Amino acid sequence: MLIYQLGEGEALPSPFTVLPSPFTKNKAMNKRNYQKEMDALIARNAAEGKRPSLLLHVCCAVCASYVLEYLYRHFDITVCYYNPNITEESEYRYRYSELRRYVDEAGLSGYIRFAEVEYRPEDFLSAVKGHESDPEGSARCAICFHQRLSYTARLCKEGGYDYFATTLTISPLKNAEVLNRIGEKLAEEYGVSYLCSDFKKKEGYKRSIELSREYDLYRQNYCGCIFSKN
Ligand code: SF4
Repeated sequence: MLIYQLGEGEALPSPFTVLPSPFTKNKAMNKRNYQKEMDALIARNAAEGKRPSLLLHVCCAVCASYVLEYLYRHFDITVCYYNPNITEESEYRYRYSELRRYVDEAGLSGYIRFAEVEYRPEDFLSAVKGHESDPEGSARCAICFHQRLSYTARLCKEGGYDYFATTLTISPLKNAEVLNRIGEKLAEEYGVSYLCSDFKKKEGYKRSIELSREYDLYRQNYCGCIFSKN
């Protein structure tokens, strides 16, 4: 399990100072089951005959494969492929084209919309300045999560979506608790609703690997930023 533990005397830049310490492990903290919480919310909406809109931040086709398969029955989904952390443009565009291909080939194109987003890797590079040598799973990744979810929360507000969420929680290498805390804090800030998740549960990660094989999806061997490449 990766822990977002800051080094002694190290401070996260604003806006992390407003977060309720998601970067340190608190043993006394009750562990939430985000997967169950999400399923309960889906069941409540279904019982009330609701089909809410969801702005889903997507990092890549592999992570999206299972998440879209799982959620499209319950939400009107718009994909937000906002990933300035993918610092090489060819890689950024290839991951996006694989995502579009998956949506088409899986027969989901009638259900999924795509939001227009900008590609500005310079924003990521400036946000993580000073954290270039941090190991994966450290403060640099927390800044990266915050940047991507913050953009999605803002778009959620502007577009009037019922919820926003991220596929990032499907990765065993990413801390769902940190992601969900950031998402919930941003929801408060923007006055929108965040759909908490832990998509790796219920064999979600396993299913994403099965789907990526079935559709021969590109499975990158690094997270995304240039600092994670070697
Ligand atoms: S390793 Fe991944 S999550 Fe961490 S900063 Fe780089 S792209 Fe973002």
